[in-house]
Amino acid sequence: MRILLTGGAGFIGSAVVRQLIRETDHEVVNVDKLTYAGNLESLAEALDDPRHHFERVDIRDADEVRRVFEQYRPGAVMHLAAESHVDRSIDGPGEFIRTNVDGTFTLLQAARAYWGGLEGGARDRFRFHHVSTDEVYGSLGPEGFFTEETPYDPRSPYSASKAASDHLARAWHHTYGLPTMVTNCSNNYGPYHFPEKLIPLVILNALDGKPLPVYGKGDQIRDWLYVEDHARALYTVVTTGVIGETYNIGGHNEKQNLEVVHTICDLLDEMVPKAGSYRDQITYVADRPGHDRRYAIDASKMSAELAWQPQETFESGIRKTVQWYLDNQQWVNNVKSGSYQSWIEQNYGERA
Ligand code: NAD
Repeated sequence: MRILLTGGAGFIGSAVVRQLIRETDHEVVNVDKLTYAGNLESLAEALDDPRHHFERVDIRDADEVRRVFEQYRPGAVMHLAAESHVDRSIDGPGEFIRTNVDGTFTLLQAARAYWGGLEGGARDRFRFHHVSTDEVYGSLGPEGFFTEETPYDPRSPYSASKAASDHLARAWHHTYGLPTMVTNCSNNYGPYHFPEKLIPLVILNALDGKPLPVYGKGDQIRDWLYVEDHARALYTVVTTGVIGETYNIGGHNEKQNLEVVHTICDLLDEMVPKAGSYRDQITYVADRPGHDRRYAIDASKMSAELAWQPQETFESGIRKTVQWYLDNQQWVNNVKSGSYQSWIEQNYGERA
């Protein structure tokens, strides 16, 4: 199969691309605009594989998206391209609406036109898999879990834009019959995570001797999923999921943010000992406006119907993640210095 995957230079998309090239015979058409979050260095060995085709395309560019569909004639779409950072969405929501809502609309329209022209088995097999977040469900109290039936209640510009795009994907199924599926996933962590997000930020700031910022009291609860487990789940859904269905994907790892930061500090105390503990670098900062208290996912549909289970516990996954950042200083340095961007500019032209 040839899979058209959007956002394949990002954190999760690159994990899916690496896994598809490493573990399957499929071809990947990687459609990515290469924003600040796109980093081709995250594709490692997949980048030069003949089964990997990179297209630097903005998903809002209808002509270019149509060209990609016609040129590669994919058997499935995995749609991950998005603006993804909640803090950035609070500072500048416009780009989130334009990429997450308009971009998804443009992609759905192109997929619909292309799928409409398919016949027989190719038409029956085609899938459009829209990748989303559990943040669309809002915030939980101390009890309960998000299920696929939980009503939408997005609170941030990011989650509102993702909620809108989920509705579009479902509407294109109900209205036009496009074979869409939606997945909603909890917080991911793991290798190649851009250092603006909590876990890589804490690891790298700790090693640099910088403060480790914790929002409010650090008592917000998130469910953490190792990115390679998410990549396997996405592949499971696109190949065996049921058209029109939604699947929640989670790691069964609810942790308070402060617990996460403590765990990283304790691992670093063990792996890179220094005088005193890395915990001494923790500083409490003003809470994010409208910060959701707790997210927790009920992923039982994924395990009961598609036989998917996460392989990593938080303890095993976070150890691997800290080790990865220690072993991959070059990737980290290139991200921090911005040199990954100059390399992209030299090879692919200026960033938009
Ligand atoms: P990311 O920010 O690391 O990567 C996003 C990628 O999309 C980048 O490579 C970027 O260049 C590309 N992109 C952005 N705008 C584009 C545009 N207009 N056209 C083409 N490409 C564009 O994001 P991520 O963390 O890998 O998340 C991937 C998807 O998974 C997103 O849809 C996100 O909402 C969803 N998700 C993420 C998490 C998480 O914890 N990171 C959890 C649940 C769901």
